[in-house]
Amino acid sequence: MTSQLRYICAALAFMAIASLVLAFTDNEPIGLEGNRPKVQLVSSMYNHFRLPRSIRPQKYTLHVITHLENPENLTFVGEVAMHLIALEDTSNITLHALNLTINSREIILRNLRAKESEQKNCVRSTEINTYHGYYIMHLCEPLRQGEEYILTIPFSSILNLNLRGYYRSSYVDRASNQTKWLAVTQFEPASARYAFPCFDEPDFKAKFVVILGHHNKYTALSNMPLKETRPMADKKDWVWSEFEESVPMSTYLVAYTVNDFAYVTSETSLKNKVQFRTWARPDAIEQCKYAADVGPKVLQYYEDIFNIKFPLDKIDEIAIPDFSAGAMENWGLVTYRETALLYAENVSSLENKQRVASVIAHELAHQWFGNLVTMKWWQDLWLNEGFATYVASLGVEHINPEWRELEKESVGNTLAIFKLDALKSSHPISQEITHTNKIEEIFDSISYKKGSTVLRMMHHFLGDEAFRAGLHYYLKKHAYANAEQDDLWMSLTEAAHKYRTLPKTFDIKTIMDSWTLQTGYPIITVTRDYDRKLAKVTQIRYLLDTIASRDAERSCWWVPLSYTTQTEIDFAATTPKNWLQCSGMNEPVTQTLKDMPDQNEWIIFNVQMSGLYKVKYDERNWNMLIETLTSDDYRKVHVINRAHLIDDALTLAWTGDQDYDIAMRLIEYLVREREYIPWKAALDNLRDVNRILRQTPEYEYFKVSATFLKEKHYNFWKI
Ligand SMILES: [Zn+2]
Repeated sequence: MTSQLRYICAALAFMAIASLVLAFTDNEPIGLEGNRPKVQLVSSMYNHFRLPRSIRPQKYTLHVITHLENPENLTFVGEVAMHLIALEDTSNITLHALNLTINSREIILRNLRAKESEQKNCVRSTEINTYHGYYIMHLCEPLRQGEEYILTIPFSSILNLNLRGYYRSSYVDRASNQTKWLAVTQFEPASARYAFPCFDEPDFKAKFVVILGHHNKYTALSNMPLKETRPMADKKDWVWSEFEESVPMSTYLVAYTVNDFAYVTSETSLKNKVQFRTWARPDAIEQCKYAADVGPKVLQYYEDIFNIKFPLDKIDEIAIPDFSAGAMENWGLVTYRETALLYAENVSSLENKQRVASVIAHELAHQWFGNLVTMKWWQDLWLNEGFATYVASLGVEHINPEWRELEKESVGNTLAIFKLDALKSSHPISQEITHTNKIEEIFDSISYKKGSTVLRMMHHFLGDEAFRAGLHYYLKKHAYANAEQDDLWMSLTEAAHKYRTLPKTFDIKTIMDSWTLQTGYPIITVTRDYDRKLAKVTQIRYLLDTIASRDAERSCWWVPLSYTTQTEIDFAATTPKNWLQCSGMNEPVTQTLKDMPDQNEWIIFNVQMSGLYKVKYDERNWNMLIETLTSDDYRKVHVINRAHLIDDALTLAWTGDQDYDIAMRLIEYLVREREYIPWKAALDNLRDVNRILRQTPEYEYFKVSATFLKEKHYNFWKI
C-alpha cells in the first residue's frame, strides 16, 4: 500500500472498535451499527489475537450482489462457500466477520465426501468476539483431522462510508450533473472481514472464485480476468460476472468493484503480454494515458530484475474518487486515489507526473513482494513496504533516468531517517503486533523509509548480482506462500556466499538483525593517526537528545565501511572495504584501519551514503574536505556525499558534537553548488538554525550569510 492520510484510517479503525465494544448474543444476526438486535455483554471463549490453526481454507467461492440503484439504501448481499481442511479435530470454527448480518440458522456445513442430501453437521450456537473480529461457530459434531468440508455462510451489509471493507464511493457526472455511485473494496490490512466471513490473516492463503451480481449498466472487476457474464435467472437486466479462479493469495489482496467507469488499454510492444487497462470515471479518462504508458514498462522491468514472470494475464488499475491510502496493490486490480493515478498533460505539474510514476512503480513492486510472497504476520510489514519503496525508485529510474529519482529518493529517505530515528521515541523496523488495530500504526516512515534505506544498503554491500540472485531465490522458494525476514536473510546469504561478496564467516541475518531489530542508527567516529597512516573507527547510537546518554543505549550495528580518498576519488566503490563488527555480547568492536591516505589527503566514509550512518571526522580531515569543496574541485566529491557532508556537519554542530565553525565554513561552498540535493540537506538543517537565531541579536549575521549563499544561486537561475 502507498501510505497517505493513514491517520484517517487509524482514527476510523479506532472509532469502529470503540463502537463495537459490546458483543452480540448467539444465534442472532450480527446487527449493523444503528440497527442492532438484542445486545448483551458476553465473554468469548477464544480471545487470542491470532486465529486458531486447526482449520485451513483452501478455496472461497464468493457470490456478492451489489445494490447501487437506491442511494438511500446502498447494500450488498452475498454468500461465501469455503472449502476447508481440518488439520486437527475441532468442535468449533473460528473465523473473522465484522458488521455483517449473518443468520446462523442459514449456515450449512457438510463433509466434502458426503452428498448434499446427507448433510448432517450443523451449527449449534455462535459466539462473537468483536474485539478481535471473530465469529465463532460451535458445531453439532466435531470436524475430524484430515477431512475436508464445505462451509456456506450467507451474509449482507451496507456499502459503508468508512473507505474500507466493501464501501461506497461517488462522483458527479459533468454532463448530467448527477451523482453516480460505485462500490469498491479496500481490505489491507484487516478489512476483508467487513465484506465477507473469512480467515482474515495473511498466512491463510487460498484460491478465490469471485462472482459478482450487478445491474448490466455497470462493469464488474476483480483480481482475475472475467470468465463469463450470464443473466441472473430471476432479475431482469441483472447479470452475474464470474471471474477466473485466482492464484493462492491472502484475503487482504482480494479486490472487486462495481462501477460505470471507462478505461484505456495500454498499447505495448514489450515482451510481457499482460493486458493493462487503466480505469477512471468517464470525465477523467483522458488523464489515464500517462499511467497506461508507465505501467507495462515498469512491470516488464520487474520481470527482468526478479527473473520471475508476472503470473496473471491482466492488470487493471483504477482511480477511485474516495480512497484512504495513496494506492493499494490488490493482485491484478490495483486501486488508487485519483491524484496518484491521473495525470493531465499541460495541467498537472512535473511533480504530479513523478508521483504517478512512483506510486505505480510501488504498487507493481508489491505484485512480487507482498502478493507472490507474503509476510507471515504483520510484524514483517516493513519487508513489503520497504521493498516496494526501494524497488519503486529503481523502476522509475529505469523508465525516466533523467529525473534521477533513485538519487533523490535515496537521499530524501536517508536524511529523513537520520532525523526521525535519532529520537529516543523511535522504534525498530520489525515490530511485534498483538492486535490488528496496531497494524495501521506501523504503516509509517520507519517501515517505508528506513525499510527502503536498509534494503538499499544491502544492495550496495552485496553488489547487484548477488542482491538480485538472493531475491530470486527467495521469491522462487516462497512463491504463493508466506515468509518472514529470516527467510529472506537465508536466501541472500546463500547468494552472497555464492557470488563471494560476503566473507564466509558473515551471514546476512547477523548483519541485518542489527538494523531491523534495534531502534536507531550509529554515528561512526573516524580518528586518524596521520603519521602512521591509521584510522581508528568507533560507533555509538546517534541521538538528537543531547541530555540523554548515548553510552546507555548499548546498541551495536554491523556497519559496512566503504570509503574513498582524495587521490583515489572512486565514488562508485560502494562495496565495503571493511566492517565495524559487534561482539557476541552486542558490544561494538573498535576497528583500526591501515593504509590510510597521506597526511595531506582527505578521506570520505560512506560512499554515496550507501550505509545508514553518520560520520564524524577529526578537524584536520574536515579542513581538507572544506578546502576541496570550496574550490573548483568540489564536483569531484559525489553529489550524494556533498549532501551527506553538509547534513553531518550541520547536525553534529546542532547536537554539540563538533563546532559550528566547521559546518559554516563547509556550507560556504554552496555559492557554487547547482545541484538540488546538497541544497536540500542544507536548507532542512538551516531552517532549524533559523528558528533558534531568530530571537537573538546574531540573527542579522545569519541572514546576511544565508542571503549571500542563496543570492548567487538565484542569479544563476535568473529567478
Ligand atoms: Zn506499499
